[in-house]
Amino acid sequence: MGILSGKTAVVTGSTSGIGLAIARGFAGAGANVVINGFGTPADIENERSRIETDFKVKAAYSPADMSKPAEIAEMVALGEKSFGSVDVLVNNAGIQFVSPIEEFPIDKWNAIIAINLSSAFHAIRAAVPGMKKRGWGRIINTASAHSLVASPFKVAYVSAKHGIAGLTKTVALELATFKITCNCISPGYVWTPLVEHQIPETMKARNMTKEQVIKDVLLEAQPTKEFVTVDEVAAMALFLCGNEAAQITGANISIDGGWTAA
Ligand code: NAD
Repeated sequence: MGILSGKTAVVTGSTSGIGLAIARGFAGAGANVVINGFGTPADIENERSRIETDFKVKAAYSPADMSKPAEIAEMVALGEKSFGSVDVLVNNAGIQFVSPIEEFPIDKWNAIIAINLSSAFHAIRAAVPGMKKRGWGRIINTASAHSLVASPFKVAYVSAKHGIAGLTKTVALELATFKITCNCISPGYVWTPLVEHQIPETMKARNMTKEQVIKDVLLEAQPTKEFVTVDEVAAMALFLCGNEAAQITGANISIDGGWTAA
């Protein structure tokens, strides 16, 4: 029996990267999972069915677009309808865009605020009534080292992630007496498609080669000089679901190789 046996977890942005590792980690602990995110139908079905066969749990897919509040509510309803409850919610979907502020496209600002910040509000709003009714819940938001410190050329991302840190604390206080915790995890640089895709934009914004971006921008921030792994983030998310983590709420947990200690 895993620590999440009989429970259901919704993980947004789990067709790739950190979210996929969290969804698989939770399934490995016995949870039925609702995965979400973009990708080709074949790739998504492959990941969904692999979760079922690897871990002997049920997995459903929600195509909800995290910039659309009505679709976010439908995603939570899908979890409740398919598996009877949503006990764990991980708000993880996110995008990035790198540009000097005076050229920062307005539509990118709006999309990043919607997907990286407002989606967590909408999903929590939809999931909390069921958690309160059952008297148990875990809400985990994937924040970032950029919820604590800034970097140039990432104005929308840094603003959204600082917002996630505030949202996390507020929700934790509101739910403190309901056996529902709300925390955020703040990774440093994790080698995922999100990081890989920002390299060309950063090369342009900083006039650097790819190698310089990796060494002088990405790993420069991390005293360990190593990338964080998706499995390290997933392990922390799973720990936060356990009974041992019942008194951890409103926390912003760094996994950043020492970045924000500096
Ligand atoms: P990723 O690109 O591998 O995964 C992002 C996921 O979000 C994908 O499943 C994608 O389909 C989904 N997504 C994007 N837009 C969406 C939308 N509108 N609706 C639904 N799903 C959508 O990226 P990742 O690195 O795994 O990032 C996951 C989270 O971790 C993000 O919130 C990101 O900000 C955060 N984070 C990443 C790093 C890093 O270095 N990779 C560091 C700190 C925080």
